[in-house]
Amino acid sequence: MSAPRRPPCAGLWNTPMVHTDGRLTTCCLDEHMENVLGNLADASIAELWWGPTIHRWRVAQIHGRFEDSGPYCCRCNWRSAGSYPPDKVREYLEASQDTPLPPPIPGPHEESE
Ligand code: SF4
Repeated sequence: MSAPRRPPCAGLWNTPMVHTDGRLTTCCLDEHMENVLGNLADASIAELWWGPTIHRWRVAQIHGRFEDSGPYCCRCNWRSAGSYPPDKVREYLEASQDTPLPPPIPGPHEESE
């Protein structure tokens, strides 16, 4: 029996958290700062929150590859942040069309070319 499909976590869009030292992470569950996107001393919150790293993590979750998203995401009980709604996911992917997406990573039973 396969594990139920897990939707992308809304935290990656809705819950930026800034540590007192300026580090930005994805949510308040990341108390040990494993999902750090950068420091507000070096970049704006918009640059980090809409930058390539979190975009890659979002796309990984959309494709069900949680192991390729934020380092803490694959171990957390994402249900506290809830799922990101499918219509919002579609809007996000449409809006980020000009951002290069990473190639899909083959699953364990898929052959790569
Ligand atoms: S999966 Fe967990 S660690 Fe990742 S953004 Fe969501 S709540 Fe935060």
